[in-house]
Formats: sequence, C-alpha cells, structure tokens
Amino acid sequence: MLVNKNFFNVSESYLFSTIAKKVNEFAAKHPDKKIIRMGIGDVTRPLCPAVVGALKRAALEMGDAATFRGYGPEQGYDFLRTAIKDYYLRRGVELELEEIFISDGAKSDIANILDLFAAENTVLIPNPVYPVYLDTNIMGGRKILFMDANEQNLFLPLPDRSVKADIIYICSPNNPTGAVYDTEGLKKWVDYARGNGAIILFDAAYEAYIKDDGLPRSIFEIEGAEECAIEFCSLSKTAGFTGTRCGYTVVPKALSKLGADINKMWLRRQTTKFNGVAYIVQRGAEAVFTPDGQRQIRESIGYYMENAGIISSALSEAGVWHVGGKNSPYIWLKCPDGMSSWNFFDYLLEKANVVGTPGSGFGKNGEGYFRMTAFASRENTIEAMERIKKIF
Ligand code: PLP
Repeated sequence: MLVNKNFFNVSESYLFSTIAKKVNEFAAKHPDKKIIRMGIGDVTRPLCPAVVGALKRAALEMGDAATFRGYGPEQGYDFLRTAIKDYYLRRGVELELEEIFISDGAKSDIANILDLFAAENTVLIPNPVYPVYLDTNIMGGRKILFMDANEQNLFLPLPDRSVKADIIYICSPNNPTGAVYDTEGLKKWVDYARGNGAIILFDAAYEAYIKDDGLPRSIFEIEGAEECAIEFCSLSKTAGFTGTRCGYTVVPKALSKLGADINKMWLRRQTTKFNGVAYIVQRGAEAVFTPDGQRQIRESIGYYMENAGIISSALSEAGVWHVGGKNSPYIWLKCPDGMSSWNFFDYLLEKANVVGTPGSGFGKNGEGYFRMTAFASRENTIEAMERIKKIF
C-alpha cells in the first residue's frame, strides 16, 4: 500500500495559525488593548432576509411528507440553474442549463476539476494568489510554472508566448491583490489559451464586487472563451454563504480537448463522486438571484466596498502605495520603508493593534506586501484607519 507521496511536497500552511498565535500572545500581554482584525477573508454581514425566508420555507417543505425531497440531481436543481442562467443573460452571456453545475462552493470544484486532467499537464499559476491552486496541483504531482504578478504589471500578468502551459489559473478580482483584468487583458489570455490548446480555470469568486461596468465579470464575456475556459463562482462572498455553502461552475459544451467533451466528463465525474447540494441551501441560493435578493446583497456588498474606500483613502493620506479596493474587497499595500511582510505585521500589531495578512503567505512575490480586507465592521474599519494614519 503506497500513499500519494506528492502530499509530502505540500508545505504546511502556517499563515493563519502563525497570525493567530502572534495575535493571541499580544492580547495576553496587553489585555487592555482593543485589537482590530482585518486579516481573514471571511464575511461578517448576515444572510439577507430574502435568503433567510427561502431557507425557512424550504425547511418547512422538508418537514412535510407531501413536499419532502430526498436525493436531488447531482448537478443541481433546475430552479437554481435557471436563476443563474438568467443572471448571466443579464450580462449578455448566454448559457445552456446543462453548462451550469451547482457546487458546495468554489474551493471544492476548483480542486475537483483536476480529476479531468492528466498528471502530465503543465500548470501556470499567478504569484501571489489564493493558495488552493498551487497546493492541489502539488498533490496531483503536476509540473508547476508561475506567472509573476508585481508592481510593474500592477499585479495583472499577461501571457508570455515563450511559456508553454496546459492549465492556466486566473483569479479576477484577485485574492489577495484585488487587481481586476480588463477585457483586453482577458482577451490576451483567451487568445493564448486557444493558440496553445490550453484550458483556463477562471475563478470569479469576487465578481459581484466589480463596480466598474466596463470590467468583465465573467470570462465568458470574452469572445472565444467558451472554447477554452471553465468558470468557478461562489455565493460565499457575494451573499454571505461562507458557512451556508453554495457555488456554481460553468463548463461550456463547446469545450473539447483533443476530442474529449469536457462538459460530459465533468457531469460523469459529478454524478459519480458528488450527491449534490442540500435542497434547502439551493432554495436559499435561488433567492439571491431574485430582485429582492439582488437588492439586499448589493446593500451588504456596498457596505464592504465603502469600507474598502475608507481603507484606500486612509492609506493614500498616509502615503502608502496600494492597489485593489476599487472593484474588490481586498486592499494590497506595499509595506512602508522596505519592511518585510512579517515585520510590517508585527509593527502594525504593536503600534496600531491592527491585524492584516502578510503578503508573503500568498507566494514569493507577495513578500514586502500586505493584505487588508474590507469585511470588518464600519466602526472598526474607521478606527483601524485612524490608528494607521497616526503611526505614519
Ligand atoms: N476562490 C478564491 C479566490 C477565494 O478567495 C475563495 C475563498 O476565500 C474561494 C475561491 C473559495 O470560496 P468558497 O467559499 O466558495 O469555497
């Protein structure tokens, strides 16, 4: 019996445990100080009333023999797939129901999709980025190349024709940098992927935070993307579903690689290994796409984005270089005076009692940078920024 030795190559994730340890030590030493946490990428606003109402109604249905439901379709109920189809249509993207797969969140599908691709493929991953892309491919034993995201390209790397990659990850709006590709940038990636017979795995988990109407919120807004891309989306940050769990993955029927129908393969994979998302949760998710649901989630997103604006203005006043925060809940700042990410973490905790996330935790290009999130309360965001302005 042999284990998958690739697991030995995945480095331990010390990022959030180290943050917690340092914060706990500081809190124990300074019980009088109020620590403000702006590090973890979890939402704080509750589910909106439209969703809660739908969840309650669905729970009552499940408690009545006349309306009870057992196993549902693995790929999701048509009522939710139709709501998502219409959501895309409102942005001019036409999808078929069979191209939409309901998931229990983006993370699982981003990892599970790799079942479809051979271990011999080379993957191209932005650096810095959400660590799941890297770790899942290390576990799969694939060859990994990185594309450098840095200050020169404003954290939006473009294709390098001399690099040959088969699977390309793009996250826009990006976690952790908050950078968002425009249509021209995404078109370059689509052209590169089509030219190379490669596939783009597009992570749109933060699409709802894009305020600028001119920016693409789906890769399928780009011509030809249906021939080379899969899109992952989530209601986690869009509608506060981090603990409720629901997302969706779009696998176009036009996507075929060397004669293999990727949509059919994914359906086969899901019907074999997944038994679908809870009916109650799917009813809650459906409510997100109703006019009431959309208005209510927009209020929460607006609240977070106002926080982002407060953070960005305060950093500008303090003369701290940063990107993000305009079309994303993340603000990515350059640590002042050439400090390393962890030195800045310690400095901020010590001097302002504010917690953020060291950029180095997202890849080597994140060293010297720092992530702040807009998910704290308004009161805490304002207070944290007052403290930060004082120390600079
Ligand atoms: N993709 C990105 C870029 C994320 O930042 C996250 C969560 O933080 C996810 C995917 C996972 O989201 P979900 O809660 O839908 O699994």
